[in-house]
Amino acid sequence: MEGPGEPYPADSWYTATAQALDPFPAVDGDIKADVAIVGGGFTGLSAALHLAERGVDVVLLEANRVGWGASGRNGGQIHSGQRRDVEWTEAHLGVERSKRLWALAEESKALVRDLIARHDIDCDLRDGLYATAHKKRFVESEKRYVEKLRRDYGYEAVEWVDQEPLADALGTDVYYGGIHDAGAGHLHPLNFALGIARAAAAAGARIHETTEVTALEDGAMPVLVTTRGRVTADTVILAGNGYLDGVEPDTESRVMPINNYILATEPVGAGQDGGILKGGEAASDSRFAVYYWRPTPDGRLLFGGGETYSRRFPSDVRSFVRKHMLKIYPQFRNTRIDHAWGGTLAVTASRMPRIRKLRTGVYVGAGYSGQGVTIAPLAGKLLADALTNAPGRLDDYASIPTPQFPGGKWLRTPTLIAAMTWFALRDRL
Ligand SMILES: Cc1cc2nc3c(=O)[nH]c(=O)nc-3n(C[C@H](O)[C@H](O)[C@H](O)COP(=O)(O)OP(=O)(O)OC[C@H]3O[C@@H](n4cnc5c(N)ncnc54)[C@H](O)[C@@H]3O)c2cc1C
Repeated sequence: MEGPGEPYPADSWYTATAQALDPFPAVDGDIKADVAIVGGGFTGLSAALHLAERGVDVVLLEANRVGWGASGRNGGQIHSGQRRDVEWTEAHLGVERSKRLWALAEESKALVRDLIARHDIDCDLRDGLYATAHKKRFVESEKRYVEKLRRDYGYEAVEWVDQEPLADALGTDVYYGGIHDAGAGHLHPLNFALGIARAAAAAGARIHETTEVTALEDGAMPVLVTTRGRVTADTVILAGNGYLDGVEPDTESRVMPINNYILATEPVGAGQDGGILKGGEAASDSRFAVYYWRPTPDGRLLFGGGETYSRRFPSDVRSFVRKHMLKIYPQFRNTRIDHAWGGTLAVTASRMPRIRKLRTGVYVGAGYSGQGVTIAPLAGKLLADALTNAPGRLDDYASIPTPQFPGGKWLRTPTLIAAMTWFALRDRL
């Protein structure tokens, strides 16, 4: 695993196209704030921005650079709904809560668009996403799902696309059909994160990079012990997600880091007339270990797939992801791969996020299970709402249990590997 103070990943297309932001200074000695946030990804940056806009004295501590974690490395895909579909949320949480969670997810997409517009963030936002079926047996249930969203949730941006037109749109015939979601989309996540950081700093948030939090001491006022000094605050928000390690053992036994990988090809006309993804949309598929891809503005294919579960990344990420890409786009066998990188996200056993108050003065937002481009910025805002004018805003998430992984923090990885291997096998059946 990379250590504190690391630069952005050198081989990432996002790093290569980032709108550079001057470094923020490290903490220097002991300081105080109303709210101290651990982690400068979408969760922490959104919380910092919304708190600072309301006049709260807020400090954000980031071990590396803002946007260095999953927020600056991900697929950039904006999905509708929660990570679990409405059939799952209805069955486990009831119809009324399912509808409220759907509404929150709609709010999260609107928040992303609003942040981009309000703060003039240049991050290549595009509309449209295909969710494709990689097994014929999924077709009928997916068609019914489209009808359910339209009928029961009033969500009319989705429509079913048959195999042939889908193949034409994607430039691959390996899928049996898919859902086109005009309300979903994609963006450049690192530039989105840097834009929120810029806005938060302008609103008065004190951002400190290269400052790793090594311990949280509970007391009348919580204290964050850092490599650069002690930070005392009325309230602490833990927003380290998959990178938080050794600060909050209980959350770490319920939120598990896993790694995922992306490559960017040389320009192949993706998202352009005559190329793949002609309409410029993103796409993802129905595999449990999901494949996801999208065009870049300069016509590259950005393809994500492949997971690992230890802190170490494969030594050759290009080859690791390329074999997955070739299953979908064999025509790119001789195409140059210009960039490849990995990142660490966090999953929960239920795949629903852990957003809540943990105890007096300590809050957490984590475990988006692969859907943090929209839900993490929302979590940051809900946490800011909870600390200022609307404590009830966390309730719909806070009341969803986050079970411990069997074996807790230390044994969760072998258990997860066993489970994931089974699901990956099921993808192939
Ligand atoms: C390869 C990949 C592809 C993905 N694709 C998608 C996608 O297409 N769509 C989608 O919705 N989601 C996707 N995700 C998930 C999404 O990126 C995350 O859910 C989201 O970015 C989480 O944001 P965050 O702020 O909670 O965490 P992060 O962005 O990981 O930020 C956490 C930050 O906290 C810092 N930190 C941790 N511990 C400490 C400490 N002790 N002291 C100081 N700082 C600390 C880290 O350095 C890091 O910068 C993907 C993730 C990966 C890795």
